[in-house]
Amino acid sequence: MNIHQTKLDIIEAGRRVYNQGYVASNDGNISCRIEEDRIVTTPTGMSKGFLKIEELVVTDMDGKKVSGVKNASSELGMHIFLYRERPDIKAVVHAHPPTATGFSVAGIPLTECVLPEVVITLGAIPIADYGTPGGPEISEPIRKWVKDYDAYLLENHGATTIGNSVMNAYYKMETMEHFAKIMLVARQLGGFNTLNAEQVQKLVQIRERMGIRGPSPACAIGNTGGIQTARSTGDTATAGIPTLRARSAGESAASPAPNGASSSDEAATIEEITRRVVESLRSQG
Ligand SMILES: [Zn+2]
Repeated sequence: MNIHQTKLDIIEAGRRVYNQGYVASNDGNISCRIEEDRIVTTPTGMSKGFLKIEELVVTDMDGKKVSGVKNASSELGMHIFLYRERPDIKAVVHAHPPTATGFSVAGIPLTECVLPEVVITLGAIPIADYGTPGGPEISEPIRKWVKDYDAYLLENHGATTIGNSVMNAYYKMETMEHFAKIMLVARQLGGFNTLNAEQVQKLVQIRERMGIRGPSPACAIGNTGGIQTARSTGDTATAGIPTLRARSAGESAASPAPNGASSSDEAATIEEITRRVVESLRSQG
């Protein structure tokens, strides 16, 4: 890994995070795991929009500073948690993008299979329960999602994305916020249609052809967010089916009630069938 280029990427991602309005003041933090036991991170207490290369901090995997004039980000603990849980990733971006964060404040996860590019790159974006920022409590709620997803809303706080490079993690943050804006508009217009199982299956295949590594995240199909359409009423094969893998039976995961969805035995049967289809898709990958 070219460490100098990585530092330039952190500065560039910081500039974009700030210019896009994903952070205010000194919020947000970015890091990259440059070696087995070395992390480069943004400093605490500084705007991410105007960082200089000498202001970045190098730490070990315990968060102890190895070099740098400034002190490391107060959220470095969450970054280290993510690197330990996901040895396949190299970078973490944490910010407070207003629309996506609005969904986290409203308790509405971005988990429906709605946009092809989101299904391919992120699958879905669950909400990790609230934990006090700057401490270890923020990491534990992410644990149940970390193996399956690369983007997380943090309840009443913000969002975190991970990736195989700084820009890869940054772009996931951009995709998340763009998705949130579109979902906000759709909800304002009365609701949304999800893709069906066949359409999602094709996207999963594209994801595999593109060689996107990491977990194969699931998203939910069959929700309409309140709209009754031909697709939602006529296509019973996908009606009201939560397919989010990490969501166990009976667990609400703060999901919005899929208006119009049946809670009958039929729906339970369909859910089971869909679960098996998604599982078999995964095992093929
Ligand atoms: Zn934050």
